Amino acid sequence: MVSAQSVLESTFGYDSFRGQQGEIINTIVGGGDALVLMPTGGGKSLCYQIPALVRDGTGVVISPLIALMQDQVDALAAVGARAEFLNSTQSAEERTRVENAYRAGELDLLYLAPERLRVSSTVSLLEQGQIGLFAIDEAHCVSQWGHDFRPDYLQLDVLHDRWPDVPRIALTATATEATRTEIAQRLKLTDATQFVSSFDRPNIQYRIEAKAQPLQQLLALLNTEHPGDAGIVYCLSRASVEKTAQFLVDNGIAALPYHAGLDSKVRASNQSRFLREDGMVMVATIAFGMGIDKPDVRFVAHLDLPKSVEGYYQETGRAGRDGLPATAWLAYGLQDVMQQRRMIDQSGGDLAHRRNLSAHLDAMLALCETVECRRVQLLGYFGQESTACGNCDTCLSPPESWDGTVAAQKMMSTIVRLDRERNQKFGAGHLVDILIGKTTTRVTQQRHDDLATFGIGSDVSEQDWRSVVRQLLAQSLLAVQGEYGTLAITPESAAVLSGDRIVKLRREAPRKARGSGAGGG
Ligand code: ADP
Ligand code: ZN
Repeated sequence: MVSAQSVLESTFGYDSFRGQQGEIINTIVGGGDALVLMPTGGGKSLCYQIPALVRDGTGVVISPLIALMQDQVDALAAVGARAEFLNSTQSAEERTRVENAYRAGELDLLYLAPERLRVSSTVSLLEQGQIGLFAIDEAHCVSQWGHDFRPDYLQLDVLHDRWPDVPRIALTATATEATRTEIAQRLKLTDATQFVSSFDRPNIQYRIEAKAQPLQQLLALLNTEHPGDAGIVYCLSRASVEKTAQFLVDNGIAALPYHAGLDSKVRASNQSRFLREDGMVMVATIAFGMGIDKPDVRFVAHLDLPKSVEGYYQETGRAGRDGLPATAWLAYGLQDVMQQRRMIDQSGGDLAHRRNLSAHLDAMLALCETVECRRVQLLGYFGQESTACGNCDTCLSPPESWDGTVAAQKMMSTIVRLDRERNQKFGAGHLVDILIGKTTTRVTQQRHDDLATFGIGSDVSEQDWRSVVRQLLAQSLLAVQGEYGTLAITPESAAVLSGDRIVKLRREAPRKARGSGAGGG
């Protein structure tokens, strides 16, 4: 049997293992099971590729990323390893050729899409050859509470039942403590050795700011801090990808669009320009980035709020893979919160599903609104303890917090009065107009200047009021309803109205028109 170290050097051309790779590989080579949590770019692939080359038989790799299988197989062929894949994109002849090679023991690695195992013929095919190990990539897909659940992963416990003596390694880049436990249980890996790498990416500077004029804010970031740098700008919709890319081009920045609605040739060409040319900015939906290994991405900017911390971590993780300083910048505003809450309300699926989406959004909002270190909050979400980092916006310029209890009460009581006394519901804009005492046409038409709460919030600026609403939504002290996004109080609002709960709010960074004792009296 060749040694893992010699395969590392002679096949892959690396001198030494990175992080816990050596221990993980020893575990699998020795016939044990492993559960591996390692951030993107940490080097998970070698953890099963080397044992597959060292052990007798074929390493069977379960992966949901069908689009990447060809690349992985090509990369392995380039270093002289014998690898193939089986998925639904192949012709019958192709499949037969791969199956025969497997039976004949000619493969070091065989990549399988998880749905292949639903077919009993695949299971019997596997029984006709010799298996060296099973690798289950993207193992968080087995978690029903994760952000990327795939039902086909649930039946992967068949691997343990059918082949109890074959070592298994499950790998993922995103897993909270709860997800990790769920992976271990569902995949019958409770006895496996767990390898948890640090999720910290110290060279990434995390920054989250309030959205005012997002395109101008983005342009300022690129021009002042990242001129000529390669980066990725994420937008929620295809339309905003197009608009943003055009805006950057008009302002002299080498930007390209990428989204699923583009012709596949255009997409491929934009992707390869981004990878090959220096200093390209890719403006994309989250369809872009999976499996992209470009080391010198200097910034990742989000113009819209990610749906989960997992997504945010994965997307920002594409910055600074070379270890040099990089920026993760996010602009988010009231509209983001309203829009996502509405999308969740209107999404199909059962209550449990909607609650799950809500919980993911809440965690993302908590990261946005925290007055503490972003990194502490982010790593804490993945179950990792740390201390204030000195390399995020809240560490570099600590935000002030203020007592927003009275402001919250004013907003809530306006909502309650309009609803009880006049049976009316309104969105944030109109409610803020009432509170600051603005006599708009709508205010006078509706005779809202007669309300007891008219003008009682004039000590807080309009901009600060929007921030108050956003933070109350983030803390579930207000809710958005219906297609017009009207505001309502929640069961938690009662304690604020009665004075039993203090509302701590974050003061927005660029402070304009700051009223004296805002919210204090
Ligand atoms: P992951 O799957 O965890 O995102 P990969 O397996 O794709 O990460 O590895 C990320 C990069 O690091 C790849 O370019 C890979 O070749 C490189 N790499 C992995 N292990 C080592 C090592 N021990 N020494 C040097 N480079 C490594
Ligand atoms: Zn910090």
